[in-house]
Amino acid sequence: MIDKILGPRYDAYLAFIRKAMIKDQIEARGVRDPRVLAAMDKVCRHCFVTEDMVSRAYEDYPLPLHGGQTISQPYIVALMSELAELKGPERVLEIGTGSGYQTAVLAELAAGVCTVELLPELAAGARARLAGLGYANVEFRTGDGAEGWAERAPYDAIVVTCAAKAVPPALLGQLKPGGRLVIPVGGEEQTLKVATKGPEGARERDVCAVRFVPMLGK
Ligand code: SAH
Repeated sequence: MIDKILGPRYDAYLAFIRKAMIKDQIEARGVRDPRVLAAMDKVCRHCFVTEDMVSRAYEDYPLPLHGGQTISQPYIVALMSELAELKGPERVLEIGTGSGYQTAVLAELAAGVCTVELLPELAAGARARLAGLGYANVEFRTGDGAEGWAERAPYDAIVVTCAAKAVPPALLGQLKPGGRLVIPVGGEEQTLKVATKGPEGARERDVCAVRFVPMLGK
């Protein structure tokens, strides 16, 4: 439809509505980190959704992926990226690769991203998509993210994109002192939390109510 009408101008249209998404959904709700805003502008969310969802890629919602999973709402991706407090040299662990969209945003913001996905089909799709987009600073693993990725630890930041019943101890253990763990915690009702590891041990703060798919596995 609109892609047929606009033809070669469709990409320019998508870039235009992506800028509107940043202004109206992300900046308007208080995300200010200029590096995060630039990353949200650079990463084409429409490259990560299923073909039938491309025209809706910049709307204010999560969208369905294969296997009953979802690509997170753009604002939540931006918020979690901001909460990770990345300046550029960091190494980040992501749990729940899904489409690879949040992975790409993190790869724009940090030196390296290790990402773990439970479902092999999604992991393979994200790997191919990110390679196609030219991301060379991402490592993929298929498995249970509750265990983290010990061989690559410690991490400056850990971003979890599925809801855990409680903060998995393995993830806190793989965080560097001073690092940030950004994680949705709960069942039906969930809270986005930031856990930090300081000199006096781990601390947690609540950011806002969120709704993520549950962390599966053990
Ligand atoms: N960040 C993704 C959001 C994906 S939804 C995106 O931007 O597209 C959450 C993802 O977590 C799903 O892909 C789901 O398969 C995955 N997941 C669920 N439980 C998991 C676990 N225990 N370990 C790793 N990944 C898990």
